[in-house]
Amino acid sequence: MNDRKRTPVRDYSIETRLIYGKANDLHWDYSHHLVPPISASATFRLDSSRRGAQGFHDFAHQHDAPESLPTAPIYIYDRLGEPNKDMLEETLAAAEQGDSAVTFASGMAAISAVLGILVQQGDEVLAHTTLYGCTYSLLTNWFPRLGVRVTFVDFSDLEAVRSMITNRTRVMYAETPVNPTLRLVDLEGLARLAAAANALRPVTSRIVTVVDSTFATPFCQRPLTHGIDFVVHSLTKGIGGFGTDIGGAVIGPAWSRDPLLLYRKDFGGVLSAKAAWPVLVQGLPSLAVRMRAMQATAGVVARYLSTVQDVERVSYPGLEDFEQADLARKQMVDYDGVFAPGALIYFSMCGDSPAESRHRAERFIDHIANEAYCITLAVSLGNIRTLIEHPGSMTHAAIPAQEQLEKGVDPGGIRLAIGLEKSEDIIGDLERSFESVLEGSINAL
Ligand SMILES: *Cc1c(COP(=O)(O)O)cnc(C)c1O
Repeated sequence: MNDRKRTPVRDYSIETRLIYGKANDLHWDYSHHLVPPISASATFRLDSSRRGAQGFHDFAHQHDAPESLPTAPIYIYDRLGEPNKDMLEETLAAAEQGDSAVTFASGMAAISAVLGILVQQGDEVLAHTTLYGCTYSLLTNWFPRLGVRVTFVDFSDLEAVRSMITNRTRVMYAETPVNPTLRLVDLEGLARLAAAANALRPVTSRIVTVVDSTFATPFCQRPLTHGIDFVVHSLTKGIGGFGTDIGGAVIGPAWSRDPLLLYRKDFGGVLSAKAAWPVLVQGLPSLAVRMRAMQATAGVVARYLSTVQDVERVSYPGLEDFEQADLARKQMVDYDGVFAPGALIYFSMCGDSPAESRHRAERFIDHIANEAYCITLAVSLGNIRTLIEHPGSMTHAAIPAQEQLEKGVDPGGIRLAIGLEKSEDIIGDLERSFESVLEGSINAL
């Protein structure tokens, strides 16, 4: 790389930095590429045994002695680290305005890892009642086997959370917006609650806050700026954006990088370089433009859904009648401080009974699956294609029916993850399916 003086990267907007990353760093000297090449080497050539020994010594020792590190890292083996992941991690940390990011093979690998470094046998996790289905399964099926107690409490009631804190509590874990209901958790309130509890505790038993911000993406919300300790993401969703690869990331304080790298090395949930690359060169650079377009469409579709007779209620943080509209406007903002309510909509079909609502939701979705051109029945979200699903029988099926109701996952509930199509095309597909459900109910009379 040439030595010419450049304007410091920090002087540029985050949106521009998501395109270029820290391209001129000594860590990756790709001065002849416009796009960084895919790193496709499981192992790395070392110049000498001394350099090999240095590489092993340096690995996961960044926080201990950052000043002793060489200017360029010594790569040894992909599971320990390689350039594509390092570049992606650098940019992800910038995107969330955090100190450090570590990537993982999937969102679930990231969630397991952050909890893995924070808790041990005898500790307790306080978690929000409504969670992504696999996170719920991780916390209820696997953590108890490791001797970690998990208590669920409604995080939209911070007084209730406070009353559940015990001297064994080590982690408070929530998603916001919550999957699938889109209810919000007050990030600043949660951070204040942890700070108040920690003021009375020794450093060794601090309570750490972890937020899954997958639904919002860093474009719409940055929990670390509200005082939250860790953010986790499924890169598979809005950050990756094109649905080609699975990945995850943990963004948090500088001290967490070393334990997360060690955890990743030993548990092995490494993001492949070939999966890091599309997130680095396509996902993050287009994040802002995709999210802006998708959320504008989501606003139009949500307002349309509010006018449909068969729809009992619509939950979208951008609607004026959204229950937590003030909180949404406060914590869901883009890099320019503009309200950014995201691209997910949750709505429920009406019906005289839960069974009827569920039946109508299923009929509606089946019609979409068979007839719609630009809405696809599929799990996942944040994709350039609009996706629809029925949480009650699909993503949240791990939660028993009665509990689903208590968590706000109603039987007629439908999750719509808006993509990049024209709003009138999406609305056209929805309209035709509403008509078919209505015809179905008339025929059933
Ligand atoms: C998809 C998702 C996850 C899990 O991510 P994977 O990449 O599928 O492992 C976790 N949390 C939320 C909110 C998600 O939507």
